[in-house]
Amino acid sequence: MTLEIAERRVLGPAGPAARDAHEARTVQLGAQRGVIVYEAQVVLGRGEGHPERVHRPDRPSGLHGYGVRCLGDEGWAGSMIRTSRDVLSAGGSCTHNQQSSVSKRGARMKTAVLTTSWDDGHRCDVRLARMLREHGLRATFYVAPENQEFARQDLLTLPEIRELSQDFEIGAHSMTHRRLPSISEQEAEKEITESKAVLEQVTGQEIKAFCYPGGAYTKSHVQLVKDAGYRYARTVARYAFKVDDPYQAGTSLHVYNHRFDLWQTARFAKFRPIKVLRCLEWEALAQAMFDQVIREGGIYHIWGHSWEIDEHNDWERLENVFRYISAHPKVNYVTNGELEA
Ligand SMILES: [Zn+2]
Repeated sequence: MTLEIAERRVLGPAGPAARDAHEARTVQLGAQRGVIVYEAQVVLGRGEGHPERVHRPDRPSGLHGYGVRCLGDEGWAGSMIRTSRDVLSAGGSCTHNQQSSVSKRGARMKTAVLTTSWDDGHRCDVRLARMLREHGLRATFYVAPENQEFARQDLLTLPEIRELSQDFEIGAHSMTHRRLPSISEQEAEKEITESKAVLEQVTGQEIKAFCYPGGAYTKSHVQLVKDAGYRYARTVARYAFKVDDPYQAGTSLHVYNHRFDLWQTARFAKFRPIKVLRCLEWEALAQAMFDQVIREGGIYHIWGHSWEIDEHNDWERLENVFRYISAHPKVNYVTNGELEA
């Protein structure tokens, strides 16, 4: 069948062009139908629930592919990859003769939303942000500008926060990161309002999202967060795939091995022993959760701490997960603040 190229974007080489790649993905997500040409490096096989996966290159530098993703009335209808520019020079159309068996399944897929958040405002956030950009993932960084748990030189500087805000959402995580129930109501109110004001001044943007330090809060703190003008507040609850209350929003997965999670993990893995064992490692759990959201729909919220990832030497595992969850045509990638909208 012949398909029109509705939009196309010629991308530069990978690496410095990460921002372009991100834009291309945004274009791809925004399209309702038609065909989009986007940068792609390697496509691996099609698996259950994963019609296609675009991977970072294991190929020689300079060799880039271009993918054509076809979005029609029935949703995802297949794709192909060329490793030369012939698709782009095809004069606005291309021939696609590989009708995929997953297109009908694709049509039944429910909405999948993916968001990530990263707490504390540690300087390792800079490295994390680089990885997020490379994979075109959206994120919210919850910053506590005067976090008492780290030396000042380990915190993001104000210019670094400002730079992060160019590509990601900045959320407030109180000023000092003290647990709200451990301080007076007056102090808690100051933590909540001052962090919003400071970060708004630094970024020049509205700070919509708040994250309770250590996940500790009471009903009165929820009210203080509402009164301060926030529109969303995150907790540290896990295994959530929807937001019931935007001021007590849970998450799906913490990038960390919670060894005492056996019951929740077992329930998630539908008590299948091998899957349960596998999912005790956060990397496998992260991928299994993504598969579930693709199959069943829902909001998939991954969060973590860059300093913790660094401490546990988890960068490579995180990169594997980012590769697994990025650039999926059925997924709407958003920041935390956009969940509320
Ligand atoms: Zn924190």
